[in-house]
Amino acid sequence: MPVPLLDLKAQHATIRDEVVAAMMKVVDAQSFILGDPVAAFEAEVAALSHARYAIGCANGTDAILLAMRALDIGRGDEVITTPFTFFATAGTIHNVGATPVFVDIEATTFNILPDAVRAARTSRSKAVIPVDLFGQMAAVEQVSAAVPGLPVIEDAAQSIGARRMVDGESRMAGEMAAICTFSFFPSKNLGGYGDGGMIVTQDASIAERLKRLRVHGGAKQYFHDEVGYNSRLDALQAVVLSAKLPHLGSWSAKRRENAAYYDAAFADLAAERALATPYVAPENESIFNQYTLRIPGGRRDALQSFLKERGIGTSIYYPLPLHLQPCFAYLGYREGQCPESERAAKEVLSLPIYPELSRAQLDEVVAGVTSFFAA
Ligand SMILES: *Cc1c(COP(=O)(O)O)cnc(C)c1O
Repeated sequence: MPVPLLDLKAQHATIRDEVVAAMMKVVDAQSFILGDPVAAFEAEVAALSHARYAIGCANGTDAILLAMRALDIGRGDEVITTPFTFFATAGTIHNVGATPVFVDIEATTFNILPDAVRAARTSRSKAVIPVDLFGQMAAVEQVSAAVPGLPVIEDAAQSIGARRMVDGESRMAGEMAAICTFSFFPSKNLGGYGDGGMIVTQDASIAERLKRLRVHGGAKQYFHDEVGYNSRLDALQAVVLSAKLPHLGSWSAKRRENAAYYDAAFADLAAERALATPYVAPENESIFNQYTLRIPGGRRDALQSFLKERGIGTSIYYPLPLHLQPCFAYLGYREGQCPESERAAKEVLSLPIYPELSRAQLDEVVAGVTSFFAA
């Protein structure tokens, strides 16, 4: 039985009627750009994230770009971030004209190290972008405390609905940062039927600014206070996402169950150090956008090929850390400067974790991994 890394058709089959009905309403109304469906979905995401304001936009990449523009970040500025993330986190820093400053990650969670952020701060630092990688929140409050006065832009593209206990209180992804960004790319836990993104904030003036920036920089149509972008969330995507949002909690819970199943099945291999199962910090509740093993000893690629032969989909997020990407050669980083990110890039392998996986499929993946190491 083949087990794909992700099976969007399986999820669609469980919600087809409600999603298609919602989409047909928009089609019949012929009202596609912003409007009530987008406002309604923005309010839902604000509520989920414990944020005052939510602003829909075209995708998760634009969300990060718009966040930096709203903070007036541009030429001559530095933005501190992690090199172990999807490209968009740093590509947007470059695209606003600023300089990405890469600092290393914690070996356990794969998230940015607050102490490294502190050490990287200069007079030109204008923001820090921690990423809530694979579904687990970064230590956003520790990153904030490490660089007092510097705004935190939380890239929560992979972590909508994730939470973290801070000083005895449960905090949502998006609640603690100056600005937080989400993506509704189809493979995220809350995926649209196309591209989509969202920005949340507690700050009224940042929210106003973002609402202008997404419509070419003018609060009033055809009058432009500044040069912005065309970056709006489609009404069609908004109704799809509103229909899916009530399921997000149970989908993420199912992912955690699947993760626990794998953890138990791989416990012996982990004890022998053949692999390491994902570490979730005790204060975090992950939404497991990915279930990412570490395979030390140079055997990761062989395991991936072995699983592929058996019809099991896996992926390497991410094979080359961003400080070593050819496009960032101009920044002058060398191998060895972010050793944990570099080691992670060589060892990680993400397994199928999506909520619709059957018990038989989970067992197929477990059998594939265990027989590789038994061979
Ligand atoms: C997916 C993702 C993005 C970009 O989202 P898009 O909607 O594809 O533009 C940004 N950052 C991270 C960490 C992501 O995983």
